[in-house]
Amino acid sequence: MTTSEGYDVIVVGAGIIGLNIAFQLARNSDLRVLVLEKGPNVAQGSTGASSAVMRARYTHPEMAVAARDGLHAYRNWAEYTGLERPLATYEGIGTLWMMGEDEATVAADVQRLDALGIAAEHLDAETVTRRWPALNPCGARFDPADHTCTTGGNFLFEPEGGYFDPVSAAQDLCQAARQRGVEVRFGVEVTGLLREGSRVGGVEIGDGGTMGSGLVVLCTGPWSQAWLRANRIDLGWELRPTRIQVLTRSLPADLGPLPVVGDGCGGIYFRPEAGGSRLLVGSILEEDEKEVVADPDSFDTRLDPEFRDPKLWALHHRLPGLEMRGRVTGLASMYTITSDVHPVIGATSTEGLMVATGFSGHGFKEGPAVGAMVAAELLGRHIEEFGCEAPIEFFSPRRRPLHTDDHSVLA
Ligand SMILES: Cc1cc2nc3c(=O)[nH]c(=O)nc-3n(C[C@H](O)[C@H](O)[C@H](O)COP(=O)(O)OP(=O)(O)OC[C@H]3O[C@@H](n4cnc5c(N)ncnc54)[C@H](O)[C@@H]3O)c2cc1C
Repeated sequence: MTTSEGYDVIVVGAGIIGLNIAFQLARNSDLRVLVLEKGPNVAQGSTGASSAVMRARYTHPEMAVAARDGLHAYRNWAEYTGLERPLATYEGIGTLWMMGEDEATVAADVQRLDALGIAAEHLDAETVTRRWPALNPCGARFDPADHTCTTGGNFLFEPEGGYFDPVSAAQDLCQAARQRGVEVRFGVEVTGLLREGSRVGGVEIGDGGTMGSGLVVLCTGPWSQAWLRANRIDLGWELRPTRIQVLTRSLPADLGPLPVVGDGCGGIYFRPEAGGSRLLVGSILEEDEKEVVADPDSFDTRLDPEFRDPKLWALHHRLPGLEMRGRVTGLASMYTITSDVHPVIGATSTEGLMVATGFSGHGFKEGPAVGAMVAAELLGRHIEEFGCEAPIEFFSPRRRPLHTDDHSVLA
């Protein structure tokens, strides 16, 4: 065994969650923080493939507030990271929900979000067409075999929504954390926990070495379930890695401006990509989140034609002026899904071990708030001191499964 080195906190995993936690700890304390990442760089898991859509319309107020606080950090990225010239910039084009909802539903949700400090507007079809002429303001469920578009409709717009570049964001956070004294090491796999009596004493790493620390935070995304099982830690939650696909295709400039769109009628979301030259399209359907990945290190990362074609039909329904030709590419990555589609964040039954995992399609936007929650908890401080309000207890592994009508990423 190599010599054990000592740290106050070891964070396992350099995705958006681990990096935000390390950064928030370094920003708010003098603790010696080490991040260990098995890959060669940041964003090797879900983060690197994230669509990084920003929206705060969630069922539970605690999730909405976590997203709201996350969006605030991304919208003020240079201030949040303290970097003079961050790589990532916020694309604040707003997020438009086209869910086929009635007037009363949209009006009630605008009020609910407003009470949570989340900007939201109730738009009619005319306004949607004026702002984004390329969008078909149809409110009827889309079936390519049999569909008649409706006129009129009710839409919810989050003007502070938008999107971000996930890899640049992770690189920025890594640099910002390092500037504040965090050590980030790549190519180091954490294989087990060192124990001192009943509590954590550090971690074992791939080469047989050890690193000492009384606090370990596991942020291993889709690898979490296998890791916990291998270390005989029962969290009481299944953390299913599931295969998630997205596609991109060309976006002609003459379509005019577009927001991020959540399209409940077609079961898709889409947003501009690559400086507005392409469109990124993903699914909001539970049925597209069910394929369990047996081994997160080895699964089919290609786009399935069976996924691609219906999503393209739905896209053309929403953007009737979009030319049919255009090169389509895509990939599959992973969500990590719990039984109630909400993350588990907090202490485990192993003293000194915390987890922050199970983020489904929510984790990117919530990263800064999760960093604040975990840092506040570890430092024994109030979350408000970190400019956030999301309560960590709500996400505790000890909670009962939450109720949601929707078991997809829309939960
Ligand atoms: C296609 C797609 C689209 C998405 N779109 C959105 C979106 O629009 N908005 C949004 O908010 N969220 C979105 N998400 C979800 C979001 O990206 C994730 O919730 C988030 O990235 C999870 O981050 P993480 O840090 O928990 O996990 P990961 O990013 O998976 O990071 C885990 C890291 O841990 C490392 N690791 C694992 N095991 C070990 C070990 N034993 N030792 C050391 N290192 C280890 C891995 O290499 C990896 O780098 C999307 C996800 C996908 C896949």
